Amino acid sequence: MPIAVKSFVFIILASFIVAFSVSSSMAETPANAPNPIISDVRVGLHGSKTRVVLDIDRNVHFSIFTLPAPYRVVVNLPEVGWNLTKNAKTQKKGLMSRFRYGLFTPGTSRMVIDANGPMEVQKAFILKPVKGSGVQFHRLVIDLVSTTETVFLEGLAQRKAQAKASQPSVAEIQNASIPMPIKKPKPVGKKVIMLDPGHGGVDPGTIGVSGTYEKNITLAMARDIKKAIEKNGRFKVVLTRNRDIFIRLRDRVRKAREAGADLFISIHADAIKNPKTRGLSVYTLSDKASDKEAAALAHKENKADLIAGLDLSSENAEVTNILIDLAQRESMNQSAIVAKNLVKELKREVKLLRNTHRFAGFAVLKAPDLPSILVETGFLSNRQDERNLLSRKYRAKLARAVAKGVERHFATVQEAQIR
Ligand SMILES: [Zn+2]
Repeated sequence: MPIAVKSFVFIILASFIVAFSVSSSMAETPANAPNPIISDVRVGLHGSKTRVVLDIDRNVHFSIFTLPAPYRVVVNLPEVGWNLTKNAKTQKKGLMSRFRYGLFTPGTSRMVIDANGPMEVQKAFILKPVKGSGVQFHRLVIDLVSTTETVFLEGLAQRKAQAKASQPSVAEIQNASIPMPIKKPKPVGKKVIMLDPGHGGVDPGTIGVSGTYEKNITLAMARDIKKAIEKNGRFKVVLTRNRDIFIRLRDRVRKAREAGADLFISIHADAIKNPKTRGLSVYTLSDKASDKEAAALAHKENKADLIAGLDLSSENAEVTNILIDLAQRESMNQSAIVAKNLVKELKREVKLLRNTHRFAGFAVLKAPDLPSILVETGFLSNRQDERNLLSRKYRAKLARAVAKGVERHFATVQEAQIR
């Protein structure tokens, strides 16, 4: 990104969070120290305040802000390690109904506190360890108090206005060198397959019957599929993420473009009320979902950005609509063909959900010029599916079937082109 644009972004971000931005000296952190470790999270009630306390092994820089719909408090931290007991992870009290945490971008970890109503951050600060008192940790203290919806939204509007005031004018933007969209490099020979492990970092995805996080299953699965596909030497496989980190839905698609991908496969695992429902299914994009379940699933997956604490209220609805319009028939048809070829191979190896090829409006499948499918590998709400997906052997089998499906697809396409 050119420096000019970079600094605009910085100004916008900085002014957006300035209201609650708190910093403290980093002087005591050695330059090459490993990441700070958060070893405990506690929540308590102090009069009308809900106090959330994080134990950290050193002083850190942080910023904090709130978002509506649903009400959340977002805490940005440097990249930290989380070493929490199950007990610490599942706490809720007062205004806090639960919290999530994880890597947000390289170098930034994020904690999102879900609140059960409108609230404000009354104070947020770091307490240093007290010599001789036995308290050996730095503590990040966050005091939340409840407020009315009106006050909450007024505060939000004010912060946005401040952010806008420091935004560059149209002329300034036009004069700044804006990066051109990266042209699809035409790879010689090898087809490029982009695998997209769903969720990650601060967004765990679905949580299985015995506590398995979807984000871990999707990453393990993607790595296995990469291995299986690359075995035959004709494909190059790239992952949208190869670590436990959050990625915005549209950035997943952008990465596929930048890699010059010929096929995009998003990998997920579902959960559903009925614990007996199990099996794999393949989805492709359509403006109309094939059934109610498919629609509900798309709705849930599309909320990933919201879950990670992004403010989508300023996103341009028009842009989204144009993107959908751009999802030309051609790319949708191509995706449907890929799905068919994949299902042919998968049904030999693994249990499929009934009507396995389904259609729904997944945000991550909306690349107009790139055949894209989404594989729900199974239901983490079903014990057998969860066990299978945790098994290396099962994943390897599934990965081989996907690899065969991909080979079958490109063989068919090539044949059609020759004819
Ligand atoms: Zn998912």
